[in-house]
Amino acid sequence: MNAYVESVINNVRAKHANEPEFVQTVEEVLSSISPVIDAHPEYEKADLLNRIVEPERMFTFRVVWQDDNGAYHTQTGYRCQFNGAIGPYKGGLRFQKNVYPGIIKFLGFEQIFKNALTGLPIGGGKGGSDFDPAGKSDAEVMRFCQSFMTALYKYIGPSIDVPAGDMGVGGREIGYLFGQYRRLKGTYENGVLTGKGLSYGGSLIRPEATGYGAMYYLCEVLKHEHDKIEGKRIAISGYGNVGWGIMKKAMQLGAKVTYFAGPDGYVHDPDGVCTEDKLNFILEMRAKDPMHCKPYADKYGCEFVPNAKCWGVKDVDVYMPAATQNDVKMESAEKIAASGVKYYIEVANMPTTNDALNYLRAQKHMIVAPSKAVNAGGVGVSALEMSQNSERLSWTAEEVDDQLKKMMINIHKVSAEAAEKYGFGYDLVTGANIAGFQKVATAMMEQGVF
Ligand code: GLU
Repeated sequence: MNAYVESVINNVRAKHANEPEFVQTVEEVLSSISPVIDAHPEYEKADLLNRIVEPERMFTFRVVWQDDNGAYHTQTGYRCQFNGAIGPYKGGLRFQKNVYPGIIKFLGFEQIFKNALTGLPIGGGKGGSDFDPAGKSDAEVMRFCQSFMTALYKYIGPSIDVPAGDMGVGGREIGYLFGQYRRLKGTYENGVLTGKGLSYGGSLIRPEATGYGAMYYLCEVLKHEHDKIEGKRIAISGYGNVGWGIMKKAMQLGAKVTYFAGPDGYVHDPDGVCTEDKLNFILEMRAKDPMHCKPYADKYGCEFVPNAKCWGVKDVDVYMPAATQNDVKMESAEKIAASGVKYYIEVANMPTTNDALNYLRAQKHMIVAPSKAVNAGGVGVSALEMSQNSERLSWTAEEVDDQLKKMMINIHKVSAEAAEKYGFGYDLVTGANIAGFQKVATAMMEQGVF
């Protein structure tokens, strides 16, 4: 590995020893781009890598809210404006108990390269809070969101920083956040947030975009392998917006999700989650209780395996981890490799630990695709939502879906080309890192030292 790259990774390891998720993503990205640094000595001269691993700005803020009984609670809010070289900071907000700076930084760092891959002018950012939405009433969520936005509104805006959803932040939360922003600013700047409701500037297809985009990307991988999507059986983890979008697009394309895993275990439905009725049931089940997917198995009379993940099942063609970070560790990777399944398509942000990812990539019979490319359609459609807001127009579902498809075809193409250019062959992981990095690095170099 290039000595400069190694020194920057070591700096990050020492400085962020308490933030393992951030160290993990830096190791993954920087080790991939080592040959680019060899080819561009000017990057080392400008110390570009120590700059790129340091957020341009990151801050915390106090968020106090009252529960329905009048008791006070104090939470920490975060926003990381990681890199704005190619556009306003863009990235979601995560509300989850385990949120701490290491999670926000890892997501923000991934977001820089993911957003660059979309081909659209959006920089990388991320934010959130350690607020736990589980079991909270609507009124409690509203008060929390209002308090959160009261602290944040001065530091965001349609040309500054455009937050969106992530885990724990969906349409309801975005609505409350936008209402408070509008109240505080006294202007109708709906381009300040994406993932909005359709009645106030949201985009058609945004809720499904990440899952749809992942399926379009999978189609490109299959095309490359002279294979086809029709009849493919898919095992996923997670059945949130992203998993649901995968199920729906799979159905439209003649494929089917036959396994899905949740916090309580996994469901095996050999017929596939591919009727309107089943898709609607998933939405209802999730709204009632996000911690259990067993009710699906009970309703449709299929197998449910408690407290287990579906990694290693043999009767599928594609694995798509779509739940959360570090879902697939070495033990699961070994089972996946042993199953003989060819396609491992990451969807959630950093769903695979680095050792497990490298192990899977080393399997001769497997093709591995990285999440920062595969899930980029979500933020990509967010950027399309921003365009619609600034034009004061709404595009049709067909227009958005068509642009999303083109975007995913292009992401796959530029990733494959970047890997090829540096002699890696069809290595989608390395290619995505190189293509994303190259775009941001060029913009940073042209803008001078800061
Ligand atoms: N949270 C999503 C992501 O990980 C979407 C971000 C956005 O739409 O800004 O990319």
